[in-house]
Amino acid sequence: MSIDLSRWKGKNILVIGAGISGFAASRVAKSLGANVILSDAKSNLEITEPLDGIEVKLGEQTSDLLDGIDRIIVSPAVPLKIPILQTAIERGIEIISEIELGFEVCRSPIFAVTGTNGKTTTTTLLGLLLQKKFSEVGVCGNIGIAFSETAQKLDEKSAIALEISSYQMESTKNFQPHVSSILNVTPDHLKRHGSMEVYQAMKEKIFANETLNDYVVLNYDDPRTREIGNRVKNCNVVFFSRKAQLNKGAFIEFVPPKDAELPFKKMMPKARWLTIRWNGKSYKLCNVAELGIKGSHNVENALAAAMMAYLAGVEPEKIREVLIEFQGVEHRIEFVREIDGVKYFNDSKATNTDSTIKAIDAFDEGHLILIAGGDDKGTDLAEMFEHVKKRVDELILIGAAAERFHRDAVSNGYPAEKIHDVGFDMKAAIDLARKISKSGQIVLLSPACASFDMYQNFEERGKDFKNIVNNL
Ligand code: ADP
Repeated sequence: MSIDLSRWKGKNILVIGAGISGFAASRVAKSLGANVILSDAKSNLEITEPLDGIEVKLGEQTSDLLDGIDRIIVSPAVPLKIPILQTAIERGIEIISEIELGFEVCRSPIFAVTGTNGKTTTTTLLGLLLQKKFSEVGVCGNIGIAFSETAQKLDEKSAIALEISSYQMESTKNFQPHVSSILNVTPDHLKRHGSMEVYQAMKEKIFANETLNDYVVLNYDDPRTREIGNRVKNCNVVFFSRKAQLNKGAFIEFVPPKDAELPFKKMMPKARWLTIRWNGKSYKLCNVAELGIKGSHNVENALAAAMMAYLAGVEPEKIREVLIEFQGVEHRIEFVREIDGVKYFNDSKATNTDSTIKAIDAFDEGHLILIAGGDDKGTDLAEMFEHVKKRVDELILIGAAAERFHRDAVSNGYPAEKIHDVGFDMKAAIDLARKISKSGQIVLLSPACASFDMYQNFEERGKDFKNIVNNL
């Protein structure tokens, strides 16, 4: 469906939210000939973005801001329930999201990923896969690069790998990806959406405008997304599964080593193959051990991305190459360096216990020296320490959470003599890890905490870890 962009010319557009997508939306609307006002409720914002010809209004958003406005573009961080948007709805002013604007200016096929967890990893991997077929690929959306501005620069020969959050789905209308995926739906962000049903409905909007030429790729192992698949009528449903053998879709095929076929050169026969089955044909892509990204959650991400790439027309041989090469996204179980047989991994993005459990389980071979702690979220630690007890040889604690983590580790049965408190000092943690580690062990930073006690954000924490490790 193509939308007539002349609907923007000469129109008065109000953009709400001066963040990455608000800046981009303002510029895109301006380039389409609109008169643009960018408004943010924060009065003390320092704006360093180029905003030529765009009027910026900071501070309290009263209803007179709406006078003469034809259309509103709302940033994902801004919920529809704020008073100014409620007034706009009463007045019948059209409200769209930056994603919808992006769709209007987009000429490239869109491959969109949503879900509670794994979006950034899957979208990044998908971007690399699509590069094997399309001349240019835009990787954008919730990942931190605005969709609308990226889309405007690309053409029919390009493709878009788009990460979408449930927030971004709130104000879409015609948005239509060619292939979409919902990786999983677990309770998250319930505060904003009000209920699990609303949250799930937001995720389902991703394929609402798709047609029988389009696909939605769903997780067969997640009861919620499997159930969604049973209800879809408007487009083609394709499943991926880590646990079930599917007749069609992407899954793990268990092949006894001696029977393994060798469809590609230089393949080692191993038992668990990432496989795509389509129209009666079966393509073994790579085995789980060969995958560049580790952990069962990443097997799911890889299956989803591979399936989407296959539907985009990427050759299975090319999919294989990328799956083996891709080492993951920065700060997510990211390999840093090996020194004297000890491998160092940065998982600074693990800001909660769930993520740390996933990271611990991702190393199903080898022994861990875990660096954890930081800004304490106060969550229950019992389940995490069950995994720590099984897999972690030494536990090094940093930051504000160290005291509680220490206490809870001991009360959950982790030996006190294996716990080391080093205070608010990443270097001390790494120096100690270097001193006590033996060849074959793995040093893993996976804090299970936010970073704000010592750093601006988890990125800064991860970079600090990597710098120190690289200077050892
Ligand atoms: P998102 O962009 O959705 O936050 P990321 O790819 O950045 O997801 O991964 C963040 C964390 O979420 C990872 O470190 C891991 O702990 C967890 N995770 C990633 N993929 C999955 C998945 N498919 N299922 C469950 N948890 C996952």
